[in-house]
Amino acid sequence: MNSLEKKYPVVEVDLKKLKHNIDEMVRRCREKGISIAGVVKGFNAIPETLRLYEESDCVQIASSRLEHIEDARKMGLKGPFLAIRVPMLSEIPDLVRLADISLNSELTVVKAIDEECKRQGKKHSVILMADLGDLREGYWDKDEMVEAAYYIENNLANIYLAGVGTNLGCYGSINATPEKMEELISVAEAIEEKIGRKLDIISGGGTTSFPLVYNNTMPKRINHLRMGEGIALGKDLEDLWGLDMSFLNKDVFTLKAEIVEIKDKPSYPVGEIFVDCFGNRGEYIDRGIRKRAIVAVGKVDFALDYQLEPRNKGVEVLGSSSDHLILDIEENKDDLKVGDVLEFDLRYSTMVYLTSSKYVRIECIN
Ligand SMILES: *Cc1c(COP(=O)(O)O)cnc(C)c1O
Repeated sequence: MNSLEKKYPVVEVDLKKLKHNIDEMVRRCREKGISIAGVVKGFNAIPETLRLYEESDCVQIASSRLEHIEDARKMGLKGPFLAIRVPMLSEIPDLVRLADISLNSELTVVKAIDEECKRQGKKHSVILMADLGDLREGYWDKDEMVEAAYYIENNLANIYLAGVGTNLGCYGSINATPEKMEELISVAEAIEEKIGRKLDIISGGGTTSFPLVYNNTMPKRINHLRMGEGIALGKDLEDLWGLDMSFLNKDVFTLKAEIVEIKDKPSYPVGEIFVDCFGNRGEYIDRGIRKRAIVAVGKVDFALDYQLEPRNKGVEVLGSSSDHLILDIEENKDDLKVGDVLEFDLRYSTMVYLTSSKYVRIECIN
């Protein structure tokens, strides 16, 4: 049996820093009457992190992948677990076995969940999703949504209609605004009117809805958010929304990768320029001879090289192939050598890919 004694690349996860972020976000939202589902899909539900979410004041642990919930169950965690990708009909037995609550947008699926609950002797809660213009999951026709809610309430004995939710700032890049939240609340109230009781949960979105909490513009009845990136990284809220997120650690995740070549080379390719190894036409700027480094990690691991942020000053990402990351280190003053290990900050996409790559080790530190 061969097994590689590989050190790098590694993604280091600082659990103390993550715990701080979970606690800060949960507390700040709770002060405004909002409870948090901790979304763990963005870092492939690393087991040690699951325990932190379980021990925190998050009201659910959430993922789009049932594998993550299964891992958590196997660790003996209790949840409750929220499935946040609208379920496949083909995964209903697993959904009912693993998740306590799920986001839904198809009555056919909710009926199938009810049937399966009967078989397993279980109850399952659902949150019905409203599409408010981002054009991913959810009811577009709000009358149809109210009818579905009424049907569930009165005909599906094993399903508890827990509430409604929406997703924004994803496919359609639609911003969460107080107006969008009011739209969700009016669907919720139409349902409440029809079924004659209050809903428990009005789930106003993910990280991209946090700016309303921060700015005190979140309408009162929104009482739930499902938060991934805003806890794990907090970078988008600062860089894209301009919020002061200094109360969070931005360096929970660190990619460490090893330099395998350092040479002075031209910055403009030499010869007949055609396409790169992925069939794209590259753009190259001639800056003369520059010092560059190759690091042993590649697109297979992180997909989007421009979303890696080198921590060393004077290090610039030039590009990458499947297995090589190419850096300009001309301006760097650290006297870098082959064998040195460089550190990078992650953003959402690089975090997702790196933590899912079988070539990248994960190491949790306390
Ligand atoms: C991924 C996801 C979230 C969390 O998104 P973040 O931007 O990481 O907070 C919330 N809700 C749904 C339905 C999701 O798919």
